[in-house]
Amino acid sequence: MTTPPPPEILIAIRGVAKRFDLGKAVVHALREVTLDIYRGEYLSVMGPSGSGKSTLFNMIGALDHPSSGSVIIGGVTLTDLTSRQLAHFRSHYIGYVFQSYNLLPAYDAITNVALPLLFSGIAPADATARAVKMLERVGLGHRLTHRPDELSGGQQQRVAIARALVAEPVIILADEPTANLDLHTGEEIIQLLRSLCDEL
Ligand code: ADP
Ligand code: MG
Repeated sequence: MTTPPPPEILIAIRGVAKRFDLGKAVVHALREVTLDIYRGEYLSVMGPSGSGKSTLFNMIGALDHPSSGSVIIGGVTLTDLTSRQLAHFRSHYIGYVFQSYNLLPAYDAITNVALPLLFSGIAPADATARAVKMLERVGLGHRLTHRPDELSGGQQQRVAIARALVAEPVIILADEPTANLDLHTGEEIIQLLRSLCDEL
């Protein structure tokens, strides 16, 4: 009989503080946050507006750096990386889903999803095939050539989720992904994220 391997800590947040010095006042957005997140874990961070959720996400996504403490992802301390290494980290490790879907209005669903792959040098035919597959997985196989203004809010968020996942990131950060959706559609989007997390 073999024992299963112990769960792997993917994200280790160690005493992270973030202060914004505005001259007239110092805002403590995060105070000494320590948290382990395991590979494959689905985690919701809840708190009122202004409690530091986006600031914490920006630390994990390496969009901003802590005032003190450290963020260690896959054993690598983010503050040790050069800006070139950070760019590589962001494009290979992180998929970001935003409250406002941030799709490019002039392009159809396939192109919006394929763009991150095209930017990373993947051949157009390959990128398109992967975008189609991802859009099918999020339930949009019937809206491949629709532009954002031809899609509902929930469908646009599905396109954004497909775009965040198409390059197979290790971590998906979704910052209030349902804030612009009605309750029912929001629940569908959360269900979709949960099931994708289980599958991946
Ligand atoms: P949440 O996402 O939970 O609503 P935020 O992380 O956006 O909260 O903000 C946490 C606190 O940090 C708030 O008080 C906010 O005003 C402040 N804050 C966030 N970003 C900045 C910034 N760039 N400059 C100054 N203060 C900021
Ligand atoms: Mg926020």
